[in-house]
Amino acid sequence: MNQKEKVEAIKRQLVVINKLLKKPENKFCADCKRPSPTWASINLGVFICINCSGCHREIGVHVTKIKSVNLDVWPNEVLKNFQKINNKIANEYWEYNLRNFNFKSIQNDNRKLIKFIRDKYEYKKWIDKKRKDPMTLIIQGKIKTEDEEEDDNSDNEKNEQEENSDNEKENGGYTKIYNKKMRMIKKMKVEIGKKMGKILIKN
Ligand SMILES: [Zn+2]
Repeated sequence: MNQKEKVEAIKRQLVVINKLLKKPENKFCADCKRPSPTWASINLGVFICINCSGCHREIGVHVTKIKSVNLDVWPNEVLKNFQKINNKIANEYWEYNLRNFNFKSIQNDNRKLIKFIRDKYEYKKWIDKKRKDPMTLIIQGKIKTEDEEEDDNSDNEKNEQEENSDNEKENGGYTKIYNKKMRMIKKMKVEIGKKMGKILIKN
């Protein structure tokens, strides 16, 4: 990708990302809660501030992979995944057991900030242990966007309707044949009964 292509790709992705960043759920850094995040951890599915992005980088890519929303090109897959998550959903998992934390106390202290981010994502100190992290579920296709669910539902309804009308046609056909056979069997039974009766009487 040359420079011009990169600029174009970033312009396109910003149309999507800016919409995501306008959501109330994404208005604040997922970690220190400062307003207007412009970076993201693409494997954790969170938007974060530039300060926290530096801390994420220090922790390493085995825990968190950082991209800028306006300097890096995001793969389409990543962009799609971010449409299924937001900071609130992510933190309902990562900060599930975090209570009464003073975020102001870490905002201007990078040492504390790194410790907080490590505790949160590397040591999973406050996670909801009953479930998997949401981004993993999204990557595995287990969480869908509302739009996708609507599509699925309308597909299902359509399929069901088609199936029903098919069944009716088939059943209609089968029912006729079935009833005809049953009438034939009944008739045969009567005939056999009569014959058996005659035989029995003869004997
Ligand atoms: Zn932050």
